[in-house]
Amino acid sequence: MSPGIEDTIGYQHEGECCAVCGKALKPGEALATMHRSGSKLPICCPLCFEAYQQDPKPYLERLARQTLLQELLNVGGNTSGQSDRS
Ligand SMILES: [Zn+2]
Repeated sequence: MSPGIEDTIGYQHEGECCAVCGKALKPGEALATMHRSGSKLPICCPLCFEAYQQDPKPYLERLARQTLLQELLNVGGNTSGQSDRS
């Protein structure tokens, strides 16, 4: 039995997601990155940029929730049994 390669296939998610549509972005692929009170909000395309400009609030709130969730996951490990899909 080999020890496996967990170290190399672990969470190396350096990419970001579009703050508006949630599309995964490779580093440098974002059209623009908005900076808001210490948080980065990558924008993938002009359409998303426009949507963000018109009403940034829901995206900022979602980012705040995501950041919080991320911290909870990092601290407490897996929280199974709850679906976050709406
Ligand atoms: Zn987008």
